[in-house]
Amino acid sequence: MTTTAYVLDGNARYHHTATCTALDTARLFTRGDITEVTVGTTDHTPCLVCVAAPSAEWVVTADNLGELLELVGPSKVHYAPAPPGHYVSVLADGLTVMAHKGQPRAWARFGDTIRRERGGRYIVQHAATETEA
Ligand SMILES: [Zn+2]
Repeated sequence: MTTTAYVLDGNARYHHTATCTALDTARLFTRGDITEVTVGTTDHTPCLVCVAAPSAEWVVTADNLGELLELVGPSKVHYAPAPPGHYVSVLADGLTVMAHKGQPRAWARFGDTIRRERGGRYIVQHAATETEA
């Protein structure tokens, strides 16, 4: 099956609608042009915001950070100091899920899972390699 989708130049995600909010947000940063593509002929990954079958569980990656920012209501990008030699002083390293509905503020690092539960609560599950004290 092939469908028409929209990609932003230099971005590996495709969107089902040209008016997707995640596409808008990404465009603010890259100022790239939107190109129409046919899904199935490119190696793009579907956007999480406008995907046909919405999910309630996401693994945080550098690629989907902007989309999760749209999906996870009370959240903001988490930054860490950049290693020496970088031209920027901080780098994004995950998503901070703000305190909400009785849930404490939680930091989802790249590789961690964010799950939406009933009642609109978001639970952060740290990747298995992480050792919790
Ligand atoms: Zn989208």
